Amino acid sequence: HHVYKLAKRPTGTPTEEAFDYVEEEIPEPGPGEALVRTIYMSVDPYMRDRMRAGESYAEPWDVGEPLKCAVVGEVVESNGAGYEAGDVVTGEMHWAEYATAPASALTQIDPDRGPLSAYLGVLGMPGNTAYFGVNEVAKPRAGETFVVTGAAGAVGSVAGQIAKLNGARVIGFAGSDRKVEFLEDDLGFDVGINYKKVDDYGAALAEAAPDGVDSYFDNVGGPITDAVFNQLNVDARVAVCGQISLYNATEVPTGPRKLLTLIQSRATVEGFLVSDFSERFDQSARQLGQWVADGTIQYRETVTEGLENAPEAFLGLFEGDNIGKQLVQVNEY
Ligand code: NDP
Repeated sequence: HHVYKLAKRPTGTPTEEAFDYVEEEIPEPGPGEALVRTIYMSVDPYMRDRMRAGESYAEPWDVGEPLKCAVVGEVVESNGAGYEAGDVVTGEMHWAEYATAPASALTQIDPDRGPLSAYLGVLGMPGNTAYFGVNEVAKPRAGETFVVTGAAGAVGSVAGQIAKLNGARVIGFAGSDRKVEFLEDDLGFDVGINYKKVDDYGAALAEAAPDGVDSYFDNVGGPITDAVFNQLNVDARVAVCGQISLYNATEVPTGPRKLLTLIQSRATVEGFLVSDFSERFDQSARQLGQWVADGTIQYRETVTEGLENAPEAFLGLFEGDNIGKQLVQVNEY
């Protein structure tokens, strides 16, 4: 089987050279472990941080070691892990065709409850991020204006829909006309802004949000965020979820730059991690599962075929190649 390892730590925007595609023996599960055959694996923006050696909330990947990721896979063999061959599980495993994991790192999923891929997207970590980031941090209320960046991505597309369910006017920034159509026509956003076609983010936002911004879900940072800060209303809430526009920066620009605006808006700016809410994932899973099943929430996935193409899928996140959740299908189910 094949496995990807970290070849070297990249500087700036990573390239395929950071990845080593290695052929190895299929591992044997140790006592209390299961051998899992990967069906889908997730590539995520935070993985850029795991390529770095420094301090981060996510543990760094080691050079020469298998890359880690969330996987949905099928148990092939259980060595006292409490699973049976054929059980479908999710958990942190490797960018690989097979991996072993202890029972404690795996969660069984019911393949009849929904498409397996959704457990890495709308019904998994990104869905949970949107759910708690909106409801517990950004807290949009009926009649307010809610803005989300990275709006057509895995987290942003769900966050905007949840804000809409809360009764807010929803504005999304995304990087193509196709994404704007997706936001407005499929997801019911009030306005989508293609930031790549706009010279003046502030003017575009002022037109879309004439009453100012009450709640901001930031996935991106940088100059779009500067523009939003200039238009925050009194007592606005800012949920800092991600800053993808800065992940490949070799020199992080001095900042935060727009704090002066907070004096006037008295806004609350709050960073959060989805894992802060791990004790309530049952609640989000139930609610998101229901919304997906009854069509209240729409979701999209971009599925790249073949483990060998996983680096390309990952690097595409920084180019905006994905609509909705970016996944890699490694094996058929
Ligand atoms: P997405 O599916 O949103 O994919 C990333 C998207 O970011 C791309 O599709 C691209 O869309 C956009 N993007 C890339 N570079 C830039 C740039 N320079 N400026 C503006 N937009 C850019 O990823 P996720 O939904 O998985 O993650 C979204 C954000 O949420 C990330 O910042 C991630 O780190 C963060 N996150 C935080 C969590 C937490 O616990 N706090 C948990 C999960 C995710 P476009 O075409 O619009 O440019």
